[in-house]
Amino acid sequence: MNLVLMGLPGAGKGTQAERIVDKYAIPHISTGDMFRAAMKEGTELGLKAKSFMDKGELVPDEVTIGIVRERLSKDDCEKGFLLDGFPRTVPQAEALEAILSDLNKKIDYCININVDKEILMGRLTGRRICKNCGATYHLVFNPPKEAGTCDRCGGELYQRADDNEETVQNRLDVNIKQTKPLLDFYAGKGYLQTIDGEQDINKVFADIDKLLATIKH
Ligand SMILES: [Zn+2]
Repeated sequence: MNLVLMGLPGAGKGTQAERIVDKYAIPHISTGDMFRAAMKEGTELGLKAKSFMDKGELVPDEVTIGIVRERLSKDDCEKGFLLDGFPRTVPQAEALEAILSDLNKKIDYCININVDKEILMGRLTGRRICKNCGATYHLVFNPPKEAGTCDRCGGELYQRADDNEETVQNRLDVNIKQTKPLLDFYAGKGYLQTIDGEQDINKVFADIDKLLATIKH
């Protein structure tokens, strides 16, 4: 099964990715891991990518796409793969189509774990940390017994700057804007499957699992 997994920050993509690769024994291919592996192996493209990253520059698409091609050509992708974090743009998605066509493969599904923005805001801004002992809480998932106070030591809880409304809102807006054309691209190809990510994580996985059972081999 050849999969592309998408979901906004806070949608639970990481958790679901882990469960999919565990159950189906396919490699989880994220952009970061792919770059790190190519650099470690010292492949020509890996070294090229490193030269851009060392200068603090973005790795150009042709290099990234070359690394994806190398990765997807490896034996462990024979039974399938789960792409996570790639493609990020429509040109990358088009390049991926070309790579897969060369390899005589195609994407089965682009799975989008969908969660309403307001719910994501709640999930992403809810973290609170104890000033005194560093214990972490979450207003929705793991609230302290008394608001604003650490259960463990009675210390005062605070919110990190990264978790504040404005920062999170910006991060989500940027992601939504970037993702939209990709979702449209995969919808146009007939690959897009939307999964309700607002449910319990076990139910989210059950829905994904049901979908994967429809892939014919
Ligand atoms: Zn504490």
